[in-house]
Amino acid sequence: MTINQETGWNFDNSYTRLPKPFYTSQNPAPVRSPELVIFNEALAQSLGLNPVALQSEAGVQVFAGNQVPKGSSPLAQAYAGHQFGHINMLGDGRAILLGEQITPKGERVDIQLKGSGRTPFSRGGDGRATLGPMLREYIISEAMHALGIPTTRSLAVVSTGETVVRETGLPGAILTRVAASHIRVGTFQYAAGKGGDDNGDDLRALADYTIERHYPEIKKDEHRYLSFLKEVIKRQAKLISKWQLVGFIHGVMNTDNMTISGESIDYGPCAFMNEYDPTTVFSSIDTQGRYAYGNQPAIGGWNLARFAESLIPLLHENEEEAVKLAQDTISDYPEQYRRNWLMGMRAKLGLFHEAREDEALIENLLNMMKKYRADFTNTFRDLTYDSKEQSTLFQSEEFIQWNHEWQERLSNQEESEEASRQLMRSNNPVVIPRNHKVEEALEAAVNDGDYHVMEKLLNVLASPYELSPDKDEYCTLPAPSAKPYRTFCGT
Ligand code: AMP
Ligand code: MG
Ligand code: MG
Repeated sequence: MTINQETGWNFDNSYTRLPKPFYTSQNPAPVRSPELVIFNEALAQSLGLNPVALQSEAGVQVFAGNQVPKGSSPLAQAYAGHQFGHINMLGDGRAILLGEQITPKGERVDIQLKGSGRTPFSRGGDGRATLGPMLREYIISEAMHALGIPTTRSLAVVSTGETVVRETGLPGAILTRVAASHIRVGTFQYAAGKGGDDNGDDLRALADYTIERHYPEIKKDEHRYLSFLKEVIKRQAKLISKWQLVGFIHGVMNTDNMTISGESIDYGPCAFMNEYDPTTVFSSIDTQGRYAYGNQPAIGGWNLARFAESLIPLLHENEEEAVKLAQDTISDYPEQYRRNWLMGMRAKLGLFHEAREDEALIENLLNMMKKYRADFTNTFRDLTYDSKEQSTLFQSEEFIQWNHEWQERLSNQEESEEASRQLMRSNNPVVIPRNHKVEEALEAAVNDGDYHVMEKLLNVLASPYELSPDKDEYCTLPAPSAKPYRTFCGT
């Protein structure tokens, strides 16, 4: 490991020490005329990087894939994945892992270029990405982080000066993504399913590596692979409950898009829900609603079951016993999810402790929100700041009745009213990345090269739990439109 004094790049490449089938060494493909269009200075600093050097002409060459920094050993990762329920061999088709940056605190994070050219896993694809979607990932991932949701981060976007052919010609771009790691459920499915005569050694190596990296506290456990499964379930139950609590719809919860670290990853067709409706879907290809808002918790469980299956050879030497262990463990997920979600919903309503009537209180509110097509974020915001606007929900008889019950429940708490208010303030965002505001920012950036709108949006999204007048315009709902909002994958 050598720290580049000037830039701060300080790579280790532990992934290259995994068995050969897990990656292919691959340099990024150079691009013609890269330009840095957005850069995350605060993130750079926290990673021990020098913002000035990184934004210099030489620094930008790294984000463009034109220059491989010292100490980096670029590679494309192999993985499989269930895409809409069907297993496929995938792998990084348009991403390159530069290596792991070791931060000043000693943390290890992946630095990945997304859109950096073809790899052996590209199949028919061109290995490239376009500017709008890379900026969109930047905005949403940073918003998620500020909301307190574990997520990959965005360090930089460069435009490449090249045209990428989609339905039309679009400006090319590369996103530099920072992640705890890019190990996915699909990485384990790949390890379990790839065959070969290694006696399961590769799978074991991957599991040991992942435990060391993300769950070192369990590595001495007697049944460490079972502990591993339990811990991954725990983190995903927590993560998905957090999505539900802010109305985030991932859009493409394929097993290759579910991390083992418990971070949200792959901001393709994701979007935040406006009106509360569990059937909400934005992705143009999700015609069956498999990944609808209300299905996310169950799909999380389905994906975790695929993860558990991939671990079976490690769980017990007797396969029948191993299957039973896997099933018993995974059967705990729905309850864990529910507990996390309930705790989060209580906090959104200012409730500190469990009471039997809470489930009904919460369900009744959600049912009314659905019936009156209330905006998810603004409803909780208005409850928090007691600024109930003239909405059909708040004026309805049933809401007034519900509000009595809620106030009653609140007044029976030992904690002060102010403490309860504070609990609500820190659990109900004032602002989320509204689809129409995100589109507005992307249009200005992509069509006019004007990044001010996006920078303003990013600034507002950085403190989602602080009420301030400059946020007002980001809280208003889009004008009713004939066309529903649609999102796209792989662009
Ligand atoms: P995603 O839907 O973003 O999770 O991507 C699914 C798979 O398609 C991954 O293996 C990607 O690497 C691959 N992929 C997406 N876009 C491209 C592209 N333009 N070129 C090559 N591979 C791609
Ligand atoms: Mg993906
Ligand atoms: Mg994607």
